[in-house]
Amino acid sequence: MVEVTGAQLVAESLKAQKVEYMFGIVGVPVIEVAMAAQAAGIKYVGMRNEQAACYAASAVGYMTGRPGACLVVSGPGLIHALGGMANANMNCWPVIVIGGSSDRNQETAGAFQEFPQVEACRLYSKFSARPSSLEAIPSVMEKAVRTSIYGRPGAVYVDIAGDMVNAKVERTKVRGVSCCSPPPVSLADHTAVTEAVALLKAAKAPLVIIGKGAAYGRAEAVLREFVETSGLLFLPTPMGKGVVPDDHPNCVSAARSRALLQADVVLLLGARLNWILHFGLPPRFNPNVKIIQVDLCAEEMGNNVRPAAALLGDIKAVVSQLVALIKKDGWKYPSNTEWWSMLREKAAANTKISKALALRATPQMNYYTVFHHISELLPHDCIIVSEGANTMDVGRTMLNNSLPRHRLDAGTFGTMGVGLGFAVAAAAVERSREKGRRVVCVEGDSAFGFSGMEVETMCRYNLPVVIIVVNNNGIYSGVDAETWKEMAKLGDLTSVAPPVSLLPEARYDEVMTAFGGRGFLVRTVEELRSALQTSLSDWENPSLLNVLIDPSSDRKQQEFPWLTRSNL
Ligand code: ADP
Ligand code: MG
Repeated sequence: MVEVTGAQLVAESLKAQKVEYMFGIVGVPVIEVAMAAQAAGIKYVGMRNEQAACYAASAVGYMTGRPGACLVVSGPGLIHALGGMANANMNCWPVIVIGGSSDRNQETAGAFQEFPQVEACRLYSKFSARPSSLEAIPSVMEKAVRTSIYGRPGAVYVDIAGDMVNAKVERTKVRGVSCCSPPPVSLADHTAVTEAVALLKAAKAPLVIIGKGAAYGRAEAVLREFVETSGLLFLPTPMGKGVVPDDHPNCVSAARSRALLQADVVLLLGARLNWILHFGLPPRFNPNVKIIQVDLCAEEMGNNVRPAAALLGDIKAVVSQLVALIKKDGWKYPSNTEWWSMLREKAAANTKISKALALRATPQMNYYTVFHHISELLPHDCIIVSEGANTMDVGRTMLNNSLPRHRLDAGTFGTMGVGLGFAVAAAAVERSREKGRRVVCVEGDSAFGFSGMEVETMCRYNLPVVIIVVNNNGIYSGVDAETWKEMAKLGDLTSVAPPVSLLPEARYDEVMTAFGGRGFLVRTVEELRSALQTSLSDWENPSLLNVLIDPSSDRKQQEFPWLTRSNL
């Protein structure tokens, strides 16, 4: 008689569903689950906080289309992971969280770390359940993984009672469940596709917006064909960057505000009209703009703006329909229109302002100087993880992406602290690829602090992530070391220090060297370039560049200043 444990069933079921990575923190009762996962051929990455583990697992879901697993202990372990689940669910990224929980015969008795975990996860997921027996584990796992990737992708939770982990059952009594099929793909209604093409043809100022749904939906090849066949101009959302390369001649990122404001027809591909796109409403959009909405989630249609055409279906499939129709008609948007030349001029003017700010001779570096030099040195195919209010905003306009799913940031939920978890995941995935790419994590000093201890994870697994901390001594802005000392003389710092300030010139680089990675303290352009070159040539060790910039350095003047207050 061959017996199998609950832990083995969990691990083998995940592997059967092609879950290849697990991130987590072990403890009672899930240690055996992590061991069984490794035995089943799943890569296990032990992290330092469940939140970062869950961010990592969800990044694997976005990058590979298959959810990563996040393994946590009961009660507090699971609660720490909720931030990651919420972030994944808001981003429409698949992730599967596996939580150990109290033994069933102690439930409601005040067991160690007892918590209503299945109920708690409902708000943060599409599916939350506990298998009723060991025999039920394979089918619940299949359903969880399938739910995470079918329809609108999202987070799922499976609860494993502590006493089920080491309980045994005869293997022949467990019905195995094979891997779920890839998500079914649907085409848009033909009439809606015809309407969409008619709207685009009649437009004077058409604009294509490419969102992270297009990136997740692997629509890059057909989207490029669409852009080139139609001659339309496009604007990527923050994580839509790279689906069609940022340096493509039809990209109008550098004239974003103007493009949004004056477009008369917008083809919205896998992006929601939420705060990231200013709700599709004035003052950021033309009040009469006609929206052609492409999404696989029917409930998304009409949020904030009623679409002139609603194309319900998979982006890749729907864009193929659009390509087929415009090819049949032989239509192309002319490149000599007023719309084109106005946006070109605006883009050139904006680029000039950023460049002038970058090259301004000042005693201390500013955001623009730092990003200008980083952009010159980064390999064009690297994965850029980016977070922190100013760092992410400025970085978005100055660091280009040429490949899809190569930009990971604070996302729909505006979550700060995702960076290191994302970078760990990206580096683990890249290492298993034949031609692994560089992972560069560009963070504000505040953003770094949320999950800073994950540098130990990077050092432990030799993940050669390059972390660049753009350090302005605070959240949004900080004070210099001298001012800090003066303030301390005025009284208790908890009463006098600005709440946005962090320790001036904090040695984040030494956090990295403490664990054996490379650390650099950078004050000048020369130091920045040399440290970055050294870091990029090392494929064995992670590095951290602590780049001290002018603490009062700010973004350039914005046309819509209220935006700068957002935590974008
Ligand atoms: P962004 O942050 O780039 O604006 P959002 O996350 O707001 O993007 O929107 C992504 C949208 O893409 C979601 O509404 C989601 O339902 C949709 N989506 C995800 N995958 C696909 C797909 N394969 N086909 C069509 N729509 C998709
Ligand atoms: Mg800062």
